[in-house]
Amino acid sequence: MLKGKVAIITGASRGIGRAIANNFAQNNAIVGINYNTSDLKAEETIKQIKQKGGKAILLKGDVSNPKDVETIVNTFVSETKKIDILVNNAGIYKRSNFEKISYDTWNKVISTNLTGCFNLCKQALPYMKPGSKIIFISSQLAFRGSSHGADYASSKAGMLGLMRSLALELACKKINVNAVAPGTIDTDIIANYSEEIRKQRIKEIPLNRLGTPDDIANTCLFLASNLSDYITGETINVNGGLYIH
Ligand code: NAD
Repeated sequence: MLKGKVAIITGASRGIGRAIANNFAQNNAIVGINYNTSDLKAEETIKQIKQKGGKAILLKGDVSNPKDVETIVNTFVSETKKIDILVNNAGIYKRSNFEKISYDTWNKVISTNLTGCFNLCKQALPYMKPGSKIIFISSQLAFRGSSHGADYASSKAGMLGLMRSLALELACKKINVNAVAPGTIDTDIIANYSEEIRKQRIKEIPLNRLGTPDDIANTCLFLASNLSDYITGETINVNGGLYIH
């Protein structure tokens, strides 16, 4: 579905980002695997892709740092000459009540989850031609809010504002901009949930299971492909019916 396409996926060393990278590579895209600190995990992702005959480029760098993002984009483009698909996936989440969120934590979450997307869009756009796609990985908490992650929910809601604005601004260039809002997906980001909280979460989900990284990757494949050419400014909720709106 993505033959001839090249895609940057941020935070692709593990979890949802890794699943998106694997999925896109299996659909014949060349994928740029961005990661920040987990060298081993990123190399593991590259190995998985290459074993299945896919092509991948390692892109180390912190999305919140504009200089790093310049390097990420330049490294990728020096090989591919263009960017067809950008997936803003990198994100951090620390479960914490509002009174315990420090200024430092607030700034870190916003600068990674929201400013990171701005940095990538800013640097990648000059290489994106008509037919290109930008995808944001937001969260159900962008809509619901969170009693233990006001910083995270704010960053994810901010992403949707950026997504909608870019969709309007880039429509004349035939660049589609959309978001995916995952529910609870079984990755490292929820690894600190106790068995009790996991069971409680599953109970609340009408489809009676946690989501998988592949559930999100398949939705991203649709948004990255030509099948979604007439969709822009939209958010697809992938949450097992947990929050229908
Ligand atoms: P994860 O913690 O397994 O993966 C996050 C990835 O982002 C990692 O590869 C990490 O290295 C990378 N990353 C973090 N900070 C970075 C930085 N400054 N620069 C570059 N990379 C950085 O979590 P995940 O569940 O795979 O999450 C992926 C995305 O999906 C995140 O944006 C997250 O907020 C979102 N999301 C996850 C869930 C869930 O339940 N798992 C739900 C809703 C939204």
